[in-house]
Amino acid sequence: MRDRFELRETDAGGRIGELRVPRAGVTVETPALLPVINPNIDTIAPRRLAEEFGAEALITNAYIIHDTPDLREQALSEGLHGMLDFPGAIMTDSGSFQLAEYGEISVTTEEILSFQAGIGSDIATPVDLPTPPDAPRERAAADLETTQERLTVAEGVDVGDTLVSAPVQGSTHLDLREDAARHADGTDLDVFPIGAVVPLLNDYRYAETVDVVAAAKRGLGADAPVHLFGAGHPMMFALAAAAGCDLFDSAAYAIYARDDRYLTVRGTRHLADIDYLPCSCPVCLEHTPDELRALPDKPREKALAAHNLHVSFAEIRRIREAIREGNLLELVEARARSHPAMLSGYRALLEHADQYERSDPVSKGTFFYVSAESAARPEVLRHHRRLERLSVPDSLLLAEGDVSGGEYDEVWTLRPPFGPVPPALVQSYPLNTDPPERPDRAIRVAALRGVARLAEANPDSELAVAHEGWPPGILAALPDRVETIDTK
Ligand SMILES: [Zn+2]
Repeated sequence: MRDRFELRETDAGGRIGELRVPRAGVTVETPALLPVINPNIDTIAPRRLAEEFGAEALITNAYIIHDTPDLREQALSEGLHGMLDFPGAIMTDSGSFQLAEYGEISVTTEEILSFQAGIGSDIATPVDLPTPPDAPRERAAADLETTQERLTVAEGVDVGDTLVSAPVQGSTHLDLREDAARHADGTDLDVFPIGAVVPLLNDYRYAETVDVVAAAKRGLGADAPVHLFGAGHPMMFALAAAAGCDLFDSAAYAIYARDDRYLTVRGTRHLADIDYLPCSCPVCLEHTPDELRALPDKPREKALAAHNLHVSFAEIRRIREAIREGNLLELVEARARSHPAMLSGYRALLEHADQYERSDPVSKGTFFYVSAESAARPEVLRHHRRLERLSVPDSLLLAEGDVSGGEYDEVWTLRPPFGPVPPALVQSYPLNTDPPERPDRAIRVAALRGVARLAEANPDSELAVAHEGWPPGILAALPDRVETIDTK
């Protein structure tokens, strides 16, 4: 059991947790956003990240520091916290990204881990081998073997109180991701980054990103803090959090600002195209788009970076609140409407509803049916499964509205998208929901799937459905022996 990470609340695969970082003496609340600081580039000072944005942790690159003589000397003499002037937790990356980009780096796992601990990193990273998406299976498997050997080496390096991350690789081969995660979970390392997803995210392949995360989650214990390495766009934070990611890092806030790109939770805009600023952060309150465009390069970049960060941190807070309220999936649904690729990502998440149903609390606020996708949510799946265990009388009427039972032993409610609901459960979560007055096909099909499940589990009971004008094409989904009565 990892005692450094404690879960406070869950919703779907999302969690509010506390990651204790002993070397820094701080506790980081998750989901958390770690802004990326390039020690060579001055965009937003780390002190300001902590004080103005509430950043509890940041991430910087130990390899750049290691290979830049001035920085290296300063980091070794003042320590990373002194050099960057940051009071929170500092995570360091090892140079695996440079390895992926340029093919070669000049340090070993022992050297770079000892160096990270030596400069006072709170969470250090071994040199893993990031295998890009779509790599041939043989290559992904061979890379993974190397990464796993390095994790074993990493376990043996004395880093004091510094936590060490165990990256999970495996490219887009889901079985490899799951194996890699299970292996990483078996080490005594502390934080679990899912690596090499940036090319997927850059190409808007959100559905495959979700599949990769879900595979990794199957191999990791619930007590494993999961970092989606390189995920920096606020549009997809809610989706990734619902898939079970606890830590994000954003270089996007600075990189996008450099080319005048303005982040929103619904996508990216170019400053040149904006007439109205859809944001109430200090930057957007103090400037019009024309004023921002008129700023000299460096102040404009800093202003946009500050806006980009404000939007990103606000989304993290919104996600935490949604998890606390139990409506994270409603937030994901809203985000899914901003881009077809996000919708695919949400649908991919729902394809794993069975997996995420296990961490979903049995009771939370109110279930809102807001799209056809809602019919595939874990709560619906769970109710359908429960139907098999309910005791059913010899004859049962499932009625959408108020109808008299007549000759039936009992009348249960037919409540889309859940289907049959016995009287004792009508007021309980999630069945106590009001379906939309103008239903779509999916909500009725899901309800009938529930009826079919009940019929299958009770072959000797006589079942009938009383509906208010449902089209025959939808009712055809019912088993033949279920009678249908149109009450409209
Ligand atoms: Zn703003």
